[in-house]
Parts: sequence; C-alpha cells; structure tokens
Amino acid sequence: MSTLEILKALVDLQAIDLRIRDLEKDRQQIPSRLETFTSSLTSKRAELNEAKNQMDEAEMSRRMLESDLKAEKEKIKKWEARLNELKNNRDYQALSREIEGARKANLGIEDEILKKMQEIEDLKVVITQRQGDLDALDKQYQAEKVGLDERLASLNAKVAEEQKLRDVAKAVVSERWLNGYDNIRKRRDGMAVVAVLDEHCQGCHMGIPPQLYNRVLVGEEIETCPFCHRILYYAQALEQLPAAHAQ
Ligand SMILES: [Zn+2]
Repeated sequence: MSTLEILKALVDLQAIDLRIRDLEKDRQQIPSRLETFTSSLTSKRAELNEAKNQMDEAEMSRRMLESDLKAEKEKIKKWEARLNELKNNRDYQALSREIEGARKANLGIEDEILKKMQEIEDLKVVITQRQGDLDALDKQYQAEKVGLDERLASLNAKVAEEQKLRDVAKAVVSERWLNGYDNIRKRRDGMAVVAVLDEHCQGCHMGIPPQLYNRVLVGEEIETCPFCHRILYYAQALEQLPAAHAQ
C-alpha cells in the first residue's frame, strides 16, 4: 500500500464520516420533534381534564342546590298546612313571616341554580372545543409520527450503508494512521485530512514552509500541517491514482 493510496483511503473515510455525521444529526432531530408534539398533547389533555373537573363540580353543586330547594319547598308546604290549623293570631302571623322568609330564600337558591346551569352550558362549549383541539393535534401527531418513523428507517438504512463503505475504506489503513485520523478529526470538527493549495493548508489556511509543501506534492510520506496538525494531501496526485484503488 503506497502513501498516496493510504491518503486516498483516508480522504474517502473522511467523506463517509462527514456523511454519517449529517445523517446522525438528522436522526437526532426526530425524537425532539415528536417530544414537542407529545408535550403539547399532554398540556391540551390537562386543559381538557380541568374543564371536565369544573363541569363535574358545577353539576354536583347544581344537584345539591336542587335537593336543598326541594327540602325547603316541602318544609314550606308543611308550614302552610299547619298555618290553617292555627287559631291564635300571633302564632299565625309569626309562621306567616317564617314562610315568607323561606320563600325569599328559595328565590335565592333558584337564582343560584340558574347560574350553575349557565356555567354548565358554558363549560360544555369549552369542553367540546378543547376535545376538538386535542383530537386534531393527536391526528396531526399520528400522521407526523408515521412520516418520522419512515424517515428514521431510511436514515438507519443509509447509516448502515455508509458503515459498510467505511469498513472497506478503513481496511487498507494501518491502525496507527486510523488512530491519528480519529484523534485529529475529533479535535478539528470532523476535518482531519485536507488538501494543500498554493503552499497553503486548506484546513487552517496558513502558509506551509516550501520544503514541507514539496514533500506533500511528492507524497512519499504522510505529512501533517505544522499549525493545525491535519494530515495533508495533494489533490492532483490522488486523482492520478489507478481507479481500482479508488473503489
Ligand atoms: Zn493547517
């Protein structure tokens, strides 16, 4: 394996790794997109339940008020029956006043019942609206999920394909240069192997000493940039390699 062939393999490896990195980036966005949906579904569900609880409470108060009213009305009926039996005028007057007071109190209860009924009607509207919003969002979420699941499967397949290509490219490079490549790549944002152009490193754009530049052009040894420590190659030299090694 010549130095140029190793450099070519490293350039291929880097192209594959950059594609894998992009694919991974896309893949990582999928859970967060679904999470945005599920968290708004959760809050919409909570809003709906809140309205349902308010409605249950309003229904319960209405029933309690109605049973109070019924009891009060029965009491008044009994008092009215007793009123007819009373001979004493003072007792009659006193009970009449009691009855009058109870009737007024009942009007107040009837008012409250009407208010509760209105509250229940308003809550029904709110519940219907919130249920509709929730259903619409849930439908949207299901559709989005189908799309994202498909996208995830396709990204997984692409990553697997790239991994296969990576294994092939990797096979021709010695462990020493593979480790070197990996170390530089981690420190230099994925770019470990860069071309030289007009005596400049294309990674850090610094000028390269002429002697080093010439050695890179000849391509007998693997050379690194004295400034950014990336592995350097001369693009035209790699292009001239026989096609069989480029696969
Ligand atoms: Zn450099």
